[in-house]
Amino acid sequence: MFTSALNPEQRAAALSALATEEFDILVIGGGVNGVGVALDAVTRGLKVALVESQDIAAGTSSRSSKLIHGGLRYLEQYDFKLVREALHERELMVSTQCPHLVKPVSFLYPLTEKVKERTYVGAGLALYDALRGFKRALPSHKHLTGKTIANISPSLRQDIITGAIRYFDAQVDDARHTMMIARTAARHGAVMATNVRVDNLTRNGKKVTGVVATDLKSGKTLTIAAKATIMCAGVWSDELHQQFGLTPGYSVAMSKGVHIVVPQSAIHSKDGIILKTAVSVLFLIPWGDKWIVGTTDTPYEGDRAKPLATQEDVQYILDQANRVLEPKLKTEDIIGVFAGLRPLVANNAASATTKLSREHTVDRPAPGFVSLAGGKYTTYRVMAKDAVDLAVLDLRRIVSDSVTEKLPLIGADGYFALQQQVLKIADDYNISEATVTHLLDRYGSLISEILEIITADPSMAQRLIPDLPYLKAEVLHAASHEGALSVEDVLLRRTRISFEASDSGLSAADTVAEIIGETLGWKSADRKNSVQSFAKVISEEESALKALVNS
Ligand SMILES: Cc1cc2nc3c(=O)[nH]c(=O)nc-3n(C[C@H](O)[C@H](O)[C@H](O)COP(=O)(O)OP(=O)(O)OC[C@H]3O[C@@H](n4cnc5c(N)ncnc54)[C@H](O)[C@@H]3O)c2cc1C
Repeated sequence: MFTSALNPEQRAAALSALATEEFDILVIGGGVNGVGVALDAVTRGLKVALVESQDIAAGTSSRSSKLIHGGLRYLEQYDFKLVREALHERELMVSTQCPHLVKPVSFLYPLTEKVKERTYVGAGLALYDALRGFKRALPSHKHLTGKTIANISPSLRQDIITGAIRYFDAQVDDARHTMMIARTAARHGAVMATNVRVDNLTRNGKKVTGVVATDLKSGKTLTIAAKATIMCAGVWSDELHQQFGLTPGYSVAMSKGVHIVVPQSAIHSKDGIILKTAVSVLFLIPWGDKWIVGTTDTPYEGDRAKPLATQEDVQYILDQANRVLEPKLKTEDIIGVFAGLRPLVANNAASATTKLSREHTVDRPAPGFVSLAGGKYTTYRVMAKDAVDLAVLDLRRIVSDSVTEKLPLIGADGYFALQQQVLKIADDYNISEATVTHLLDRYGSLISEILEIITADPSMAQRLIPDLPYLKAEVLHAASHEGALSVEDVLLRRTRISFEASDSGLSAADTVAEIIGETLGWKSADRKNSVQSFAKVISEEESALKALVNS
């Protein structure tokens, strides 16, 4: 009945619907929480729209550590409810909701002391495993001796590491997962448009009746009518509450987190590594044939759309990792860097409208308006459900309960069967088995959409960049099915070439513009502008790295 494809035709139809129809729920913000709300609401049978000022996942939701986890550190704060909830979500994602996107990953917790530390950490990890309940998609933790560690993780310093405990969590390409939730919501009928910025609210007396927004592509103003509006604006929440003249029950502080990316050869370890630091933890996370290492945690007050790593951020990560690594990581090892902003919610104790929660907050500062902020990526589904439960009070009718716990994302159906058919698909389409696996892990059963492109034009089976697995067909598909509207959308979020390629994807930018230009109806000036603005983003993101290398 509905299509999940996000592309210029779909966007044009969405803009027309936004301007003319009334929605039950309008969502502001296309991060994981916003798309999660859209999916929750539309699958309850509601009429739903979502607008995002930049690209899907352009905010924090493309810049996380990419872990789907219970959060070991919450155990130390005795927040068992939160850990149990997150572990439940982790098990759902790995086993049924999106096994094509969320994959188990093993971590070593290195020990430097033989008895006390092992007992303490071991007890914590036993509890972490126990809190999963009876659904257990991931293996349990295991104690390892110093000798075993030397084999598994030769890069860990033998002179100080006495042993380790291995435990499992899961990882995801956050930007891709968020986009797949958006496509799933579209598949069920949600109307979506990116590059549409909400500027103000419309009201009837005190009741919020929708928003005034700008289509940033045409500059046109849109008035969107909705019985209830749900804002999921992450670190933009304070700014927008103020702009809308609302007094919310909470405020959002920003904390910056930076990650660096290094090649596989820089760290010899079969497992990921977690290190306790003075302020938090540092993860060394396997990422294809690279490692993602981070993160930092520092207060931030700059431009919300452009958090940048500083020289100090990068140095801190190197110093912390090098406490346990031999050989040490060097500045020259770093291929990429990215920074994100955590929306840290501080609840206003005096507020009567805020549902207090340790991690996330759902607030209703005006009739017809709900806002959601905080929490963690892993628990987006639960937060979305909470926000919709509150917003439907304004619909004044009985609305069904959330069904997202039982709802696989698009691409999940048939994924496990397709994994058994890699050889056949490779033969049928004359591509390598490694390429089929790469595609299955990014598209699941939607691999058929990529294979159709390759069938129509076999040259699309070529790699975009020789040493990264992305195909030209995936670039075209990003514009024809995944809502990419610029070179930046393709290289930063639909693929992760911006932090995986040694030149950040700059040499591929013209080809990307060429491939997506036709689908996007571009003239040559549009291509040039899109390439130039991508180059500007990269040069800003890498300034800290360059300064460090040159220092
Ligand atoms: C460094 C770091 C590491 C993290 N690691 C993890 C992890 O490993 N696991 C985990 O579970 N969680 C992690 N998190 C937390 C997680 O990433 C966030 O909680 C989550 O991504 C927040 O999503 P969101 O939708 O609330 O915000 P965002 O993704 O920021 O979305 C908000 C959206 O609102 C849009 N917007 C703003 N203003 C407007 C407007 N006027 N009109 C329309 N749209 C607008 C923005 O463009 C943006 O896309 C991490 C966070 C950081 C910073």
